[in-house]
Formats: sequence, C-alpha cells, structure tokens
Amino acid sequence: MKTTVKSLEGSRQNIIIDGRFVKPNSGQYIPSYDPTTGESWYELAEADSSDVDAAVGAARAAFRNPAWRRMTQTDRGKLMRRLADLVLEHADELALIETRDNGKLIKEMRAQMRAMPDSYIYFAGMADKLQGETIPVNKLDMMNFNLREPIGVVGMITPWNSPLMLLTGTLAPCLAIGNTVVIKPSEHATASTLALAELIAEAGFPAGVVNVVTGTGRSAGEALTRHRDISKIVFTGSTDTGRRIAGNAAANLVPCQMELGGKSPHVIFSDVDIDHAVNGVVAGVFAAAGQTCVAGSRCFVEASVYDRFIEALVARTNRIKVGHPMADDTDIGPLALAAQVSKVESYVSSGVKEGARIAAGGKRPPAEDLARGWYFEPTVMIEAQNDMGFMRDELFGPVVGVMPFVSEEEMITLANDTRYGLASGIWTQNIDRAMRFANRIDAGTVWINTYRSAAYMSANGGFKESGYGRRGGFEVMREFSRLKNVVIDYSGTMQDPFVIRLR
Ligand code: NAD
Repeated sequence: MKTTVKSLEGSRQNIIIDGRFVKPNSGQYIPSYDPTTGESWYELAEADSSDVDAAVGAARAAFRNPAWRRMTQTDRGKLMRRLADLVLEHADELALIETRDNGKLIKEMRAQMRAMPDSYIYFAGMADKLQGETIPVNKLDMMNFNLREPIGVVGMITPWNSPLMLLTGTLAPCLAIGNTVVIKPSEHATASTLALAELIAEAGFPAGVVNVVTGTGRSAGEALTRHRDISKIVFTGSTDTGRRIAGNAAANLVPCQMELGGKSPHVIFSDVDIDHAVNGVVAGVFAAAGQTCVAGSRCFVEASVYDRFIEALVARTNRIKVGHPMADDTDIGPLALAAQVSKVESYVSSGVKEGARIAAGGKRPPAEDLARGWYFEPTVMIEAQNDMGFMRDELFGPVVGVMPFVSEEEMITLANDTRYGLASGIWTQNIDRAMRFANRIDAGTVWINTYRSAAYMSANGGFKESGYGRRGGFEVMREFSRLKNVVIDYSGTMQDPFVIRLR
C-alpha cells in the first residue's frame, strides 16, 4: 500500500479508474483539512461528470469481463479473504490516515481497522451461500425456480465519520455477489478509501471492479447519482442529501439504499443501576464526539430518579477528557469540520433561549493547545423539550438533551416524537416493559441495557426519515442481488395455444 500518512502529506491525490490512478479531467484539486489544526494536509481531485462517466464505464466493462463475471463464487470468496488479510496487515496505517483526516481517536480507529477484516471474512463466506428456490406450480412437468444474480454497477457515496467501516458494510456484500462499484467518498475524509482501493487491487480483484471518484457532492456526487448506467445507489449521509439523491435516482428509476441521520431516544427507568445507565448514555452520545448516526441524543429519564441521574451524568461528563486524537488518554477529539463546531454552538445557544439549561460543557474548550482545532466540550442540556431545535434536529456533535417522564405511555410518545427512526435504547430490569418498548418504538435498532453495540451479522437501518434498506447479516445479500424467475417445461410437448381446456 503506497498511500500512507507520510506519502499523503502535502500531496495531490488522483482518482482511481480501471485500476489506475488518473488525474481529474477538470485539473482541479481541493484541500483536505486536519481537524486538529484547521490546516490543509493534502489535496484531493475534484472529479466531474466526465470522470464519473469514465468510472461508471470501467465498472460496467468490468461487470461484463469474464475475469470477474465468470469467476466462481468460491473464488470471489477467496479474493475477499485475501483482502481481509491485507487490511489486517495495514490496519494501523489505515487508522492513522483516518485519524489525520477526520480527527477520530487513534485508539478507536485502530480497534475499528483491526476488527474490519472480520467483516470481509463474514461476507466472503456468504459468496457461495446465496441461493434461489424452486417453486411448486399448479402444472405438471414444469420446473419453476428463482435465480439470484448480481445487479450490475453500484454507486456508493459515503460520509466522513468512519469512512472505511461504513463503506465495508455495503462494499463487502456487494463484491461477494459479483457486482462492480464506483465509490464517491466524502471530500472531508477521502484518503483511506484510496488506500483501500489499492489493497483491493493488490488482493487480485480485476481492474475496474472497484473505482473511486473523489471530490464534492455537488460535482462528483451529483454526477454519480444522475448517471443512467448505475444499477443501484447506496448512500450513507445526511437526510437532506439523501432526499436529493433519491430524487436524482428516481428520475432514472434507479433503486437506492438510504442510510441517513438520526435523533435517537435513550430511555432510563428507575429500576437500573444509575452508574451503568450513565455509562451507557455517555457511550451512546459522546463517542466519536457525537459524530455517530445512532447517537442517543435525546435522553428520557423516569422522574423519580431524574435528579440523581442528572447529578451522576454531569459528574461523569465533567471527567471526560477533550484532547488531541493521537493521545491515549483522550476521550473526545475534535469535530471533523469547522462548520460542525459553529452548528453545534448555535444550536446550544438557541436551546438556552428556548428555555433549556446547560448542566455541563456548552462551549469550545478553553485549553490553549486546543485553540486551533475544531473542538467542543461534551454538553448536557437539561430542562429540554422535544420541540426545541437541538432536540428536533440532528446536530452530529457531543450534545445530549435530558427530560423527565412519568408514565410508560408518556415516554413512548416522547421517544417516537421525531421525524427520524434509526436507533433507540432502554435501560430497565423489567423484561415486559423492555419488550413493550421494543414493539412500540419506531426505530430500526433497539438496544436493551446496552447502546451502540452494532454487529455486521445483524441487519441494521432506519425507519422514517432515517432511510430505508438494510446493511449487515444475510438480509443485505438480497439487497445487492436481483431475482430472476426461470420456467422450464419438460413435458416435451407444446399445446395449441388457442385450444382452452377446462379441468
Ligand atoms: P452529507 O450528506 O453532507 O455527505 C455525505 C456524502 O454525500 C459525502 O460524500 C458528500 O460529498 C455527498 N454529497 C453531498 N451532497 C451531495 C449531492 N447533492 N449529491 C450526491 N452526493 C452528495 O453527510 P456527512 O456530513 O458527510 O455525514 C454525516 C451524516 O451522515 C449524518 O447525518 C449522519 O447521521 C449520517 N450517517 C448515517 C449513517 C447510517 O448508517 N444511517 C452512518 C453514518 C453517518
């Protein structure tokens, strides 16, 4: 793998089409910023519609290429296992690249990259297990069966938070089935996807099976979603962008998978160990400085333990160390974008005007060594209401709003009172109550006495404005394949079509 933090420093990165790094036709490059300093550290190519056209053409040719199309499922699985080995071998460098690009903690990125190969191995194992079925029909001497086959060229657009892990959730099953791909990574964290594409080539995937076009959503992203030769779009990002992309794709009748934003409820009942629940809430909302789609950013606490819970949550939040993402003792690093800090700041101050109170954090950290970076303190807002801006909209930052509830009925109404439906969590020792919550909550994932314990073996995704389609588990193999029905008449005869026989 030639792409490393050292090679990226001060460099210009090109796009990858048909297995080769090529310059963008526009000749334009844009900066990628280091969130700890706010300075540019390399430049990425700004691909335009002509580059996207070339990438889709290469992917389409690769889809038809017998070297890929006629490779057996078992051999595809072997390639993916080789890729898993290469990812593991380069896990620490991939982690360094992501940390430098998006400011996420190096300890978290290392763990993520070292675990990521398991995902490729899991889907490698599925490459030869997707099977159709035979269908009993009301006719003799007929065989009716379903085939599962790859869809074609899949366009994947990814965000900047955990770019490789989020990409892997759809790329691995997509390749296992035999599709080809054009990836458009976020302009805020591009480099690790270029590095992964190098490893994909090194593993032995034929040229053109995976192509990478980089640049802004306005340019490369729009072009990809408007392309007529794309068979499916997989988008992971914000709800507003998802809505626009789904519109572009609909014009060409291209199906989409939408992994969008969230404003997930996290519910605490009085029958639990408060310290454990506080740990769950802190992990659920402050991990990755709140930049996770499943962040449990609306916290509902049973009124009888509300004061005790707030006291413990504030004390725990005040112990969180905000610092440089490379330091081992840092709990929260910077936000990935300057605009994110201003957004979070403005929602916190308008929340105060709307009547909420800051119980912890609420500002940029005063430490001098953090002044140049895009940091924000972990923030607890109390006396929150569901109709306040910071409780309604996704901030994608380290802010949790807390409010009490009295009855289970009130809690479920409050929890479901959101346009999103991605994830949810509940802390209780009462199994009946936990199951009632699981049945009634409008969210694609329900965590009971835990939070953010996602697994690639289970299907996850959103309801409502959090999107549609699922990633993970065997379910996703169906999402990336298409079903074809085949009928055989083995009677050896063909009746006169104009003679109708009643039985
Ligand atoms: P974003 O919507 O701004 O951008 C995501 C990607 O879309 C980027 O690659 C961007 O360049 C591209 N894009 C932007 N405008 C486009 C357009 N008009 N056409 C085509 N592509 C376009 O999101 P972000 O800020 O990068 O990521 C944060 C968001 O992602 C949050 O809302 C978060 O909840 C969501 N997210 C969801 C999941 C999930 O699985 N549901 C996972 C991670 C992040």
